[in-house]
Amino acid sequence: RPEQLDLAETMGELTHLLGRLVGEKVQVDFEAESEILPVRADKRQLEQVVMNLVVNARDAVGGAGRVRLVLNNVFLEAPLKRDQAVVPAGEYATIRVIDEGDGIAPEHLAKIFEPFFTTKRAGKGTGLGLSMAYGIVKQSGGFIFADSVMGSGTTFTLYLPVSRAED
Ligand code: ADP
Ligand code: MG
Repeated sequence: RPEQLDLAETMGELTHLLGRLVGEKVQVDFEAESEILPVRADKRQLEQVVMNLVVNARDAVGGAGRVRLVLNNVFLEAPLKRDQAVVPAGEYATIRVIDEGDGIAPEHLAKIFEPFFTTKRAGKGTGLGLSMAYGIVKQSGGFIFADSVMGSGTTFTLYLPVSRAED
C-alpha cells in the first residue's frame, strides 16, 4: 500500500530497531539533510529494504564498525548512469547505506541483485535480500545501485522520486 512518506521520520524511527538488529559492536548512525522531500512508497516494504541493506552492511564490516544511513534531496539535471541503473533526470530523495566493510568484488557487482546470489556460507545467507530490495524499489518507481571499493567499503543508494501530490 503506497502512501506519502516523510523519510526523515520513517528512517529516524527505524534507526532504533536497526541498532538492535546489528548488535552492540556495530553502530548505526542516522543523518538527514533538513526538509527531506516526500516520496510515495509502501512504508513497511521500504523499512524491510533498509533493514536488509543494514544487515548486509553489518555482515560486511565483520565484528565491529559503523554503518551510516544518510538521507538527501537530489536534483538530477541529467540522467545518472551507473552499471546497475540509469536514473532519469528529476527530483529525488535518496537513501544511502554506507559501510566501511570488505567491499564487493567487481565480478560480483553485476550479480548481487539476482535471486539466490550469495557469497555467504550455507545457512548464513539466502541471497534473497537484495533481489527483494530491487523489486520493492522498482515497484515504487525508484532505483537502487551499489558503489563499492574492495577493502574500503560499499554504498547502496536508493533514488526515490519526489511526490508532492497528496492522494
Ligand atoms: P545474502 O545477504 O543472503 O547473501 P543479499 O541478496 O542480501 O543476500 O546479498 C547478496 C550478496 O551481495 C551477499 O552475499 C554479498 O556477497 C553481497 N553484498 C551485499 N551487500 C554487501 C555489502 N554491504 N558489502 C559487501 N558485500 C555485500
Ligand atoms: Mg542480505
